Amino acid sequence: MSNATASTPKIKILDENLINKIAAGEVIERPASVVKEMVENSIDAGARNISIELEEGGLKLIAIHDDGIGIAGDDLELAFTRHATSKILKAEDLFNILSFGFRGEALPSIASVAHVRALSRFRDRNAGSEIEIEGGKFKSLKAAGCPPGTSIYVSNLFFNTPARRKFIKSPRAELARITELVTSYSIGNYSIGFKLKHNDRYLMEYPPAKTLKDRLGAIYGYNSLENFIPLPGTDEGAFDNPGTLLGYISHPDQAKSRATDIRFFVNFRPIYSRTLMAALKQGYGNKLHPKLYPVCAVFFNMLPRDIDVNVHPAKTEIRFKNESELFIKLKRVVEHGLRSAGVLTGLSIDENNESPSLSGQEASKPFSFKKPPEQKRDMQESLYKGGFTGPSAGPTPDQSNIDRETGEIKPDIAKEPRTEANLYDRHAQPKMWQFKESFIVVPLKDSLMFIDQHNAHERILYEAAIHRLKSGKTSTQQLLFPITVDLTPSEFARWTDYEQILAQLGYEISEFGGNSLIITGIPAGSDDSSPEIVLRKILDDFPGDEDIQEDLNRRAAASFACHSAIKAGQKLSPEEMNLICDKLFACEEFNVCPHGRPIIARLTVDEIEKKFQRIIPEKK
Ligand code: ADP
Ligand code: MG
Repeated sequence: MSNATASTPKIKILDENLINKIAAGEVIERPASVVKEMVENSIDAGARNISIELEEGGLKLIAIHDDGIGIAGDDLELAFTRHATSKILKAEDLFNILSFGFRGEALPSIASVAHVRALSRFRDRNAGSEIEIEGGKFKSLKAAGCPPGTSIYVSNLFFNTPARRKFIKSPRAELARITELVTSYSIGNYSIGFKLKHNDRYLMEYPPAKTLKDRLGAIYGYNSLENFIPLPGTDEGAFDNPGTLLGYISHPDQAKSRATDIRFFVNFRPIYSRTLMAALKQGYGNKLHPKLYPVCAVFFNMLPRDIDVNVHPAKTEIRFKNESELFIKLKRVVEHGLRSAGVLTGLSIDENNESPSLSGQEASKPFSFKKPPEQKRDMQESLYKGGFTGPSAGPTPDQSNIDRETGEIKPDIAKEPRTEANLYDRHAQPKMWQFKESFIVVPLKDSLMFIDQHNAHERILYEAAIHRLKSGKTSTQQLLFPITVDLTPSEFARWTDYEQILAQLGYEISEFGGNSLIITGIPAGSDDSSPEIVLRKILDDFPGDEDIQEDLNRRAAASFACHSAIKAGQKLSPEEMNLICDKLFACEEFNVCPHGRPIIARLTVDEIEKKFQRIIPEKK
């Protein structure tokens, strides 16, 4: 038997430093959490300009400077003490929170897991002070000369919590998160100037903006503003009036493969909400491909008593008193906005009827991939251009009759036929036709073959791209008129990460100042009608802050092929159809596209005859 008295655990109150470290585990998960807390503090302090500097994705250094009200020297140590806040005084205040912070937890938590140096000068004083804290241990406090406002330097984050440090992914993934986060805050607080610098490079330099539209222009490029549709009342509305729902949503053509550019703000605080996201998508009805997400910046201004921000330690999710009402309201203003812009037509919404079936009628129509007429172009040109103008390749390594660099068929070298290819004889020059501007129909000896034109072209481009990536031999077609693209900071960061792969694919791109690029060449064989859109879509498909598990080459090739391939709804000439068939059957795999969707379907004579209930005479 053990000695019960000796093993009885003693209950003790934890020391302050340990409490802070535990709290840090909740609030400070990664470098982006530090940036978030400090940016919120600067906004709460009434800053007009906020500037952030990072080294190694924030793991080595996060520095933030603001020109806000500052902290008086006698309060500086207190600011780093747990539950010390200037923002609430009594319990009632909790139901009337207008500031970002109120828990008084962030600064002591950060200081418990990093080396922190803070300099601050209260607006009305002529001198500032400086404090140093390391791993929660107070080091020094002294008078210091500094401009009004606050500067905080956080270095060696998680130096004393190795488990947490290990959990952090690469600096590039952390930088991607921080870039996303600062972009969100810079939209939600567009009247504040924001700068973000990583190592020696500025990723953002936004002066204070007069309107949300100005800030969106700074981020997405002023040329893209025409693609933003205002929600009703936005262009003339006051964003800080309680009860307003204002903002911009993108034209459905601008939809992205990720939800990252869907931004909701409640009282200027970026929040995540599945409910609101669903309402937004429903508002687009059948105009939005179900797998895509629009770009938006939507501001909800609510009375503090109608929301509860105190449900999540990092306050990224909040509780609405009346979520279903908000859902209907958002869906409806989105529909209104799209209708005013002429994107949605047909049945209009009955103001007094909230029945979802009203808009459901439109939503039940199948989504159409049809391109707007001005984007339709003669594919023959680009297919042939890719096929026959690329630099001629040296001897192909595997005797294949497909030119691995351009995707071109060498007409005089025959390839061993397999399965469907077996039945398809290019020399017989079967008369093909196009069905529904989507399928190529080829009459064979004993069957009719249907080829999905998009999936087929995707496969052709994919195999050519994979070959380029593997062999290191690129093949570029020069653009007659170079095209400039304004990227968002997040897209730009991704471009710098994947620049090399894009070059291997055949892109010829250079930096053009700020977050702009200039495209001078694109992979041979791809459509040159809107390379900037294709490039953005490819960047969108590259991993951002998530772990990369998949083979990047495959991902890049599949993404390039998918976005560059001809679409359903595009008219093809007989020559183009022939070319697609020839190239397809020279591919290593021609039954499925890189995403696994079938390319070919066949209807045999037997199947046709069965439909006519023909009795097939038995052979004697
Ligand atoms: P909270 O924001 O919840 O009050 P913090 O730990 O983030 O708690 O900050 C503690 C206090 O330090 C704040 O209430 C504020 O008074 C002061 N403070 C922090 N950052 C700044 C800043 N950039 N400018 C002025 N005051 C600041
Ligand atoms: Mg705070």
